[in-house]
Amino acid sequence: AKKQGKNRFFWFEPPMENELRFRNELETGIRRGIAQGEFRPYYEQQVDLETGELTGFEMLARWDSPELGVIGPDIFIPIAEEIGVIGEMSERLISQAFEDAKQWAPELTLSVNISPVQMRDPWFAQKLLKLMVKHNFPPNRLDIEITESCLHENIGMVRSMITSLRNQGVHVSLDDFGTGYSSLSQLRTLPFDRLKIDRAFISELTDEAHGGKLVDAIISMGDGLKLPITAEGVENEQVLEALKAMGKLKGQGYHYGRPEPADKVLERLQKQGR
Ligand code: C2E
Ligand code: CA
Ligand code: CA
Ligand code: CA
Repeated sequence: AKKQGKNRFFWFEPPMENELRFRNELETGIRRGIAQGEFRPYYEQQVDLETGELTGFEMLARWDSPELGVIGPDIFIPIAEEIGVIGEMSERLISQAFEDAKQWAPELTLSVNISPVQMRDPWFAQKLLKLMVKHNFPPNRLDIEITESCLHENIGMVRSMITSLRNQGVHVSLDDFGTGYSSLSQLRTLPFDRLKIDRAFISELTDEAHGGKLVDAIISMGDGLKLPITAEGVENEQVLEALKAMGKLKGQGYHYGRPEPADKVLERLQKQGR
């Protein structure tokens, strides 16, 4: 190792500089990528676990970068939030998703993820309504997913946002349920349409030690709140069977397929005649 003290700065400077440069490149790339339409919706199937029937799709954003290849949202969403472009990026993705979903059978729903940053925008519900009108997309086919971490924000504001969305006929789901430490009494005052159990709990189902007790508890909580439930991260038959024994749930996950682009979705639907 190097000597401490005088040399310390020198030791740490080069990697920091590289990181900064990479970060700058990402920011520039994201701004340009939005303008060039490089952000594309992928879709993950959502099914009725009991019947296996497809009920809709969740839109998951991908960045098709000419320099970097296909990048996942865990990389670019936090940066887009920080540099203030998440709203514009999301509006473009949702517009594209509306056009894609209009080609599916009309009973199939479209779920989209909304950032806490967007939830803070007092015009969000209005902007969304405008988009639905522009693309002639029926509100009752749309499901807005907001993460439990949103609930740490101004709860009154979140509540009125959910209410105005639902007044427009849009459904609102609580995403990543179980990870955000929200209290039952808090949840009871929020007019959600559905809970989505986080993948972390679902994968524990096959863990002998816990034997799904946690999932059972979460499902009881959902029942107590009279809310239907979606399980995310259904990866195999074993998990599927365990969930089917626990209640009437919807689910999604790699067991049903990886998220895929719009043309693959259309092929899939054509085979099913939907
Ligand atoms: P999420 O909403 O919890 O989405 C589920 C994530 O789990 C997706 O990752 C999906 O590809 C992955 N996944 C699905 N099934 C399985 C499974 O069976 N096993 C495993 N191991 N993973 C599974 P992805 O696409 O990387 O998205 C990550 C997160 O990024 C999403 O988590 C969502 O919170 C966020 N996100 C995606 N698209 C958007 C967007 O357009 N706007 C915003 N604000 N956030 C987005
Ligand atoms: Ca989600
Ligand atoms: Ca989730
Ligand atoms: Ca998640």
